[in-house]
This record gives sequence, structure tokens and C-alpha cells, in this order.
Amino acid sequence: MPTLRIAGGRLVDPANGIKDEVRDVWIEDGKVVAPPPDPSARADRTIDARGFVVMPGGVDVHSHIAGSKVNGTRMLRPEERRDPESVWPRRDGFRSGTIGSVPSTFVTGYMYGGLGYTTAVDAAIPPLSARQAHAEFRDTPIVDKLMLVLMGNSHSVLDLVGQDDPDRLRQAVAWLLDSAGGYGVKVVNPGGVEQWKQGGKKIARWDDRVETFDVTPTQILQGLAGAVDELRLPHPVHLHGMNLGLPGNWGTTLEGMKVLEGRRAHLAHVQFHSYGGSADDPSSMDSQVGPLADYLNSHPNLSADVGQVLFGETTSMTADGAVGQYLANLTGRKWLSIDVEQEDGCGVVPITYDDRNYVHALQWAIGLEWFLRVEDPWRIALSTDHPNGASFLSYPRVIALLMDRNLRDETFARLPERLKGKTGLADLSREYTLEEVAILTRAAPARILGLRTKGHLGPGADADVTIYAPDDDRRRMFAMPRYVIKAGVVVVDDGDLRSAPDGDTLLVDPGVDPRARSGFEARLAEESSIHPANFRVRADEVARPRAVPAGH
Ligand SMILES: [Zn+2]
Repeated sequence: MPTLRIAGGRLVDPANGIKDEVRDVWIEDGKVVAPPPDPSARADRTIDARGFVVMPGGVDVHSHIAGSKVNGTRMLRPEERRDPESVWPRRDGFRSGTIGSVPSTFVTGYMYGGLGYTTAVDAAIPPLSARQAHAEFRDTPIVDKLMLVLMGNSHSVLDLVGQDDPDRLRQAVAWLLDSAGGYGVKVVNPGGVEQWKQGGKKIARWDDRVETFDVTPTQILQGLAGAVDELRLPHPVHLHGMNLGLPGNWGTTLEGMKVLEGRRAHLAHVQFHSYGGSADDPSSMDSQVGPLADYLNSHPNLSADVGQVLFGETTSMTADGAVGQYLANLTGRKWLSIDVEQEDGCGVVPITYDDRNYVHALQWAIGLEWFLRVEDPWRIALSTDHPNGASFLSYPRVIALLMDRNLRDETFARLPERLKGKTGLADLSREYTLEEVAILTRAAPARILGLRTKGHLGPGADADVTIYAPDDDRRRMFAMPRYVIKAGVVVVDDGDLRSAPDGDTLLVDPGVDPRARSGFEARLAEESSIHPANFRVRADEVARPRAVPAGH
């Protein structure tokens, strides 16, 4: 493969201690390599990056781009695609598609690539939907993809938690990950989705009981977080806690962090879990980011992504079906509930975040508070929980707000008066540096995911690079990279998206005990609509698989 030299740019590569220094980056065979010892050596192609900012490709730690909830949205929301503006026309080398809050598969890849993002995680795939999700991954070019596998309401898991059998539970986690071709373990409202599906009493506390399995959310979370740690998976358990979106939920969020008792965990979209007030009265809602961020700051076993809300139209989708029902009742809009047999479910509801709406304005402020109150940027990642808080295309808007206090103050001044005193955002003067932005958007998410070849540009790293033209308008700067290189291929060239190579699927090899597999498959044969022989996604169904070893 030809060599590529990115010459003379301002390299921002925090994982290698490079804050902002003029350095060359050399690429060969899809990897970053050390510069040749001969200073007069020439590359096959040189990109003149003088004056430009060079960063590793972006890494999205929490997004929704495949699987039943995403396809459910495509069916629920045809109106989003009737607008001529949401058509992505066909042109040479590219497929046609649609945009809206959930773009079609190919367009999802084009748009991530055009934004300078080269890796994306789908954070909620039930094992039974994994085959479909891998088919969609295959059709999502440019980005490397990973999936997190839903386990917090799986009947196999809940049974083993109830039997207090950590060995078998660990084997079940490995079997489910291996069967799905997954990368990590996702827990959504542990036990609460199962209870809601059965029509039981709402699970609202960590010591409530899941009636059908006689277990508590505490037992489920401890069991799964422990199994992930014992399997030494690269990414810790990825937790969507309980009471998502409900005023007063911050208490159960804090309790959830304590329930982990030092086990590693990544807290998803914490913005949606940080509300004071009373669940019966949305007008009582206020920000409780302060005590939650203090707890996270003092507990290095924890990391988080934010789930920032931005004003505008989008779609809410969650494996927490009860939340979908709650939102549909609240907004009066159409909605969709999908039940995934013995595994999980999901709810989908259109939502319009309005800056005149007190709750929405507070959600916007609470997200920003999280970014500004977490002291260690290595433990917080940029997300909008795409498309829940906003599309991933909004990331440049978030970056601009983090880098510019005046921009935050101007926006805040337009919001409902009663917000004052309910959020401490107006008192936070911190402004993100370029280095911190690079941590938030690539280096930290790569480290949180345990991806050693991502999020940095040292020798051996994947040659995923984004080159920006500095601009006082940060939103424009980060929305329109001048060059994007994916695995050594220039995909955005002088500001234009020129090619869309396939990305890899990153999965973990958790080490499955073949004797354990037959037991789990026997249960499947009795209870599932799918034959055990068809449950496991075959290797040839995974697009360009690349295994990341467990054990670090
Ligand atoms: Zn999510």
C-alpha cells in the first residue's frame, strides 16, 4: 500500500502527550508508522497540513445506528423522509439514501465519515437482533463498528443471577457476546424492562424485586459487572440505570454508582439520569449534576458519556420500553413498542426539544453541566445518545458550546427565566481547550472502550485521522473537516467526501466454554422462536470482523 505523509500540521494527540505541536504523521498499510529516519524521504502522497489541526479520527462511544429500534424508527417516521432536504442523492461511488433523525445505513456511514468520525458503537443490540444489526453494519461504510449486547433483562441471565451462580453467569455472558458477535455488555434498567413487559409493578429502586425471577436490580448489576470484570473484557459494563428521564431520578443514579462497589462501569447518557424534583411534577425538576459529578470525580472505576440534548426535532429510542410509554403519554405523539422475546424490548417516540419548554431547557443545561463538572476529561465522552438528545451531526454545536462560555451565556439568556437557580450552568466559566476536545471526542472514548489502536496517532495506531482548518467559528470548524483519512484511505479530500471504503466490525473474543454452550442452547430450544443452530451469528455474517482480545 502506498505511503501517505501528513506534513507540518498542528498535531493534537493527547494519548501520546502531544498537546499541540507541529509534527508529521506517516501512514503505511492502514497504520500510523514512525517517520522514516531519512529526513529527505518522500511519501507517495503528501497532504500539506501546515496551519491545520490534526487529530485522531473521532470515536463515538454511545450511539444507535442499527438493530430493531433503529429500523422501528424508520418505519414509524416516514414523514421525516418526505422533505426533499432529507434526500441524499445518488452520485458516483455513493448510494442514495435518506437523512432525518435516523439516516439510512449508507448515509449514516457517509455522514459520520464526513464529520471526521471513524468509529461508532451501537449501544443496544439484543442477541436476537444481532444478525440484522450486522447486516446493517455491513451497509454502513467508512466507520468501524462495535455493538454492545443487551443482557440486563435476559431470562438466561436473570435465572443465573437468581441461582447465585457466578461461574455459569460468566459463561452465559461469554456465550451471549460470542453468539451476537458483540463487543461489550449493556445493561438497561436491570430487571425493570422485564417487569414492565410482564405488566408488573414499576421497578423504581435498586432493592425492588423482579417478580418473575425473584431477583433485584442490585443483584443483576453486580452479577453482570462482576462477570465483565472476571472475563477481563476491554470495555466495562455499560449501564443505563433506572428511572431514565424522570424528575427525582438522581437518587437512584447515585445509588447505582454505589451498588457497583468499586467494579468498573461506564454510565450511559448521564444527563437523562441527573434530575432533582418529584416524579409527579415535572415543574419541580432541577439539576443534581453537582453531587453526581462529585461522586464520579472521586471514583476512578467510573466513566460516563453525556447524552447532550440540543433544541430541535429528533426521535427518542430506548431499550427501556417503559420510558417510551411514559414519553408517548407525556407528548401525546405516536409511538412504537417492540418486545424482543426473552431478552429485552424497545420504545420509540418522536420528540421535539423546544427552548421555551422548561424541562427541555433544563436538560440542555444539565448536559453541559456534566461536561464542565467532570474534572478528568479522560472519564467523560461526548455523546448526544444519537438520536435521543440530538443527531450525531450536532456534535460540532456541543463542542462550540464547551469551548466558548459567551456562546453558552447567550443561549442561556434566551431560555425560560425560571431556569435560574435550578442549574448551576451560568456559574461555570470553564472553556474546553483543543486538547480537551480531542480527549472528549476520540482519546477518552477509545480508552474507555479499551481500543488500543484507536484515539491516538502513535506508531501502530489505525490510520484514522481528521484534519481541521482552524476557525473562530468552532461549530463550522468541527462540522467540516478539510481531510478525513480512514485506515489510510483519504475519504474527505480538500473538504469533499470522495470515497466510502468499508469499515471493520470490532468484536471481542470472550472465550466460550463449549460445554456451557449446549446448556444455554437447550434452553433456547424450549423458549425461543429461533432454532439454537440459528442463534449464533456466523462468522461470514459479520462484515470484516476484527477481534479485540479480552484480558487487559
Ligand atoms: Zn442510548
